[in-house]
Formats: sequence, structure tokens, C-alpha cells
Amino acid sequence: MIDNNVFRDVSYGLYIISTKYQERNVGCVINTLSQVTSENPVISFSVNKNNYTNEAIKATNKFGISIISEKIKEEVIYQFGYHSSRDVKKFANCTYEEVNGIPVVTEGMCSYLICELIQTVDCGTHDIFIGKVISSKKLSQEKEMTYRYYHEVIKAVAPKNAPTYIEEKNDEKGATESDNNSNRTKKDDEDIIEDSNETKTGNAISKEEAGRAKTKENEHETSGVFEKYRCIICGYVYDEAVEKVKFTDLPADWKCPRCGVGKENFAKVVE
Ligand code: FE
Repeated sequence: MIDNNVFRDVSYGLYIISTKYQERNVGCVINTLSQVTSENPVISFSVNKNNYTNEAIKATNKFGISIISEKIKEEVIYQFGYHSSRDVKKFANCTYEEVNGIPVVTEGMCSYLICELIQTVDCGTHDIFIGKVISSKKLSQEKEMTYRYYHEVIKAVAPKNAPTYIEEKNDEKGATESDNNSNRTKKDDEDIIEDSNETKTGNAISKEEAGRAKTKENEHETSGVFEKYRCIICGYVYDEAVEKVKFTDLPADWKCPRCGVGKENFAKVVE
């Protein structure tokens, strides 16, 4: 018998792996980096085979690793963690440097490494990439972000493609805010949305819709009942008391501001 909760006792950090592939800057968030040797430093990490970055690393044999600090803008993690480089220009809204032809995110980072791929190990759903470090740079004195910090302070959840993802079923009471993972209905995390601009327009509410929502809001305020709805993909919580618009009154094409999925991926929070 394997108790998956045991894996929650393993410690991790958070990192952005990046490379340039077919003239495009690509990258994704990983949490499994480890230093293998100190002399002639070698590192290793795993990436889901469905991730575009996996394909890119195999093709280019070179990559950068940015070590995420606690000061990173959450939007940068969501951009790299919940969207696909196939469809989204992930580097468009963050500061980065190009080192040895490799783009590395520098904003909100402790430091970065530039590596050459020396071996790939097939582990089923994921590949382990082993790389030789060819250069590195310290960027700030900020504290590195741990996976526990990511879950407990930022209150985000592991994407389905993460090696540490543990599927949990919602119980009869529904999702709660303290859940780290929930049952998911959407496909792989890197394939969730088609375009970052789509997310922005998807969240825009027309004057007409806003007017309708306002009327509903007034009715709602009268009733004094506010609910919370939680995205089962990324953990974002829509709080009606804050937003002043009932979740069910949001337009059909409204999307999660954090990961870009539709309303059907939200579950009511039972506190
Ligand atoms: Fe979401």
C-alpha cells in the first residue's frame, strides 16, 4: 500500500525552467530541482512529458533555472505555472535576461543557473533532466520560496502536471479553503488556456452585463448571503462579499483571473 500523504513530508523549492526553442522564449515552473554534485556542479529535476518545455529542453539541450524568491509577483508564477508556452508568451510581462542565448527570469528571483543537458531519464509520465551547470549568478538576498510557503501563504495548489500532484476528491461537504488539492475536471495544466489576451477579455464585463449584475447585487445584498467559490485548478477563491457580484451572475465566458479556466471549474466553498 502507498499512502500518498507521505509525499507531503518531502521538502521542495520553486523554480522556473526556461530555454529558447524555435525562436521563442519558453519555460515552466518546477519544484523538483536538486543539486547532485558540488564539484563540477550537476543538477537534476523532472518535467511532465506533456509540457511544452519538456520538448524544448530535449531539442535545445540547454536551459536556465531561476530560483524563485518569496518576493516574486504571484502573477509571474501563475503565468509560468498554469499556462502553456505553446500558446502564451510567458516572458511578455516579466523582467528577464538572455544569457548564453537562454532567457532567464530575473524579476523576483534569488539567483539563476545556466546548464547544458547531459542526460535524460525516462520515468513514465515525467522525464528527469540532468544538467551540468556552466554559469550562475546571485540576483538578490531575498528568501527562496519553498513549496510549503507556496501552499500555505500564497494558498495556491499544485498543477496536475506537477510530479508532486496528489489528487483528492471533494467530500460531501464540497471544497474547503484549507484544501491544497481538489478533484479536477480539466486537462493538463499547461494546456488550460489558449491565449493570455483571451483571459483578459474573458474577464471584461460589458456595461449591460455590469448593470444586470448590479441589480442582482442589490437583490443579493438585501438577502445578505454571500458565498465563496474556489477554482479547483489553481485554488483561486472568488468571494462574493468582496466582488459584490454573485458568482452565478457572472457572464458565461468569465474566466479565473489566476489560471484562465471557466466557471465550470469552480466549486462552492463550505466553511
Ligand atoms: Fe484558477
